[in-house]
Amino acid sequence: MADQTLARYVNELSILTMLRTEGSASRAQIARRLSLTPGTITRVVSELARRGLVQEIPGPIQAAVREPGRPAISLALNPTGAYFLGVEMGVGVMRYALLDLAASVVASTEVVVSRSITPKKAVRAIAEQVARYQDARRFAGKIQAAGVTVPGLVTSEGYIVHLPILGWKNVNLLAMLRDATQLPFIVENNANAAAFGSVYTQPNLPSLCTIFLKLGTGCGGAAIINGRLLRGAAGTATEFGHMRITEHGHRCSCGQVGCLESWVNLEAMARIFRGTADLTRSELAALPSRIAAAAAVGDGGAAAAVASLTHYLSLGIVTLSNIFNPTTFMLGGVMRPLLECCLEAVKVRVAEGIVPGMKMPEIRLSHLGVMECAVGAATIAHHHAFDISTVELQEHELRA
Ligand SMILES: [Zn+2]
Repeated sequence: MADQTLARYVNELSILTMLRTEGSASRAQIARRLSLTPGTITRVVSELARRGLVQEIPGPIQAAVREPGRPAISLALNPTGAYFLGVEMGVGVMRYALLDLAASVVASTEVVVSRSITPKKAVRAIAEQVARYQDARRFAGKIQAAGVTVPGLVTSEGYIVHLPILGWKNVNLLAMLRDATQLPFIVENNANAAAFGSVYTQPNLPSLCTIFLKLGTGCGGAAIINGRLLRGAAGTATEFGHMRITEHGHRCSCGQVGCLESWVNLEAMARIFRGTADLTRSELAALPSRIAAAAAVGDGGAAAAVASLTHYLSLGIVTLSNIFNPTTFMLGGVMRPLLECCLEAVKVRVAEGIVPGMKMPEIRLSHLGVMECAVGAATIAHHHAFDISTVELQEHELRA
C-alpha cells in the first residue's frame, strides 16, 4: 500500500475506465491509447489482475496475422471484482440497486416503508440491507462503496439542508451512514443521481453537456458537463424546476408562483385532466398513464394536459438550451408515459424557440426507468470509488 503513488493510481484509473467505456483491449492497444510504456502496462495490469479487477480473455481472431501457438490475449474488466450499492430514499419507499464493476445492475429491490420514516430508522434499514447483500456469497467482501439519494437539497458534504417532503431538516445523513455501515458513502440529490446514472451507464453517449429534468411530484434538474455534475458554490445548484417562467400560476413547493415545476408536475396535470390536484398518492402515480391512454382515444381533457405540458416544458427547455447550449436533454421521472406523448411536439417547439444559429440539442427520454435514482446513486459511488481520496480504503477492502 505504501508504494501506491499518485501516478500509479491514475494509470489504474485510466485503464479501468478505458476497459469499462471502450470494451476489452490488448496490452499493446492500451499502451497506445493511453500513451503508457509496455513496462508500466505490465506492472499496473498485474496489480489490477491480482486484485481481481481485470482478467485475461481470448482476443479477437485475426486470420491474416495469426501466429500458430500464440493466441491473442485481451484484457477485460472482471465485472464480479467489485460491487457498488445505490439507495433511493423515496417517500414511503426505498429502492436498492447493486452494480458490478462494469456498472451493470446485478441486483435490485424495492421496500415499502413508512412515509414518515425518521433518518435514524432509514439508516438502520439501509445498514440491514447492506448486511444482507454482504452475507450473499457472490457479493461478500466486494461491496466497495454506496450512494444514497434523497428528494431535496443536499450540500456537497452530504449534509441534508432541506427535505420537507420527508420532514427532514439539518440531518448529517452522511455521518450516520458511515457510522452504521463502515462503507464509504455519498449522499446526493435524487435528480443529480438520476442524471449522472443516465449518462454514466451509456459511456458511448457523445455528450459534453447533458441537462436532465426529472418530472413527477416536482421537477428536479441536473447538469452534467464533461462528465461532472454542476454543483455550484454549496452543491445545491441546477434547481431548474424553480426557474420562473410566468408571473402567475399555482404556488410552487418553494413558495413562489410561476415556477416551471408548478406547470409541468403531476399536480398541474391533475388540475387539467381531473379538475383538481386533490388526489391520493396512488391516483397521482397512475395519472401519467391514465392521461396518455385517454389522449390516445381523443379525450379532450387529456389532450389539454398534453398540450399544456408540451407548451411549458418547451419554454423551460428553450431557456435552458439558450443558457447551456447542451448536447443532450434527458427527461426522466414518473411522467414518462406523458413525455412519450409530447416528445416530438416539444422537439418542434424547441427548434423554433432557441436562438437562431444555436445547435438543436438532442432531446430524449432516460432509459433507466423507476430505478433511475438508485442506479444513479450506485453509479456515483462507482465513480467515487476511483477517486484519489479513497485509494487507501479501496486497497484495504480489496485485500481484506
Ligand atoms: Zn418553485
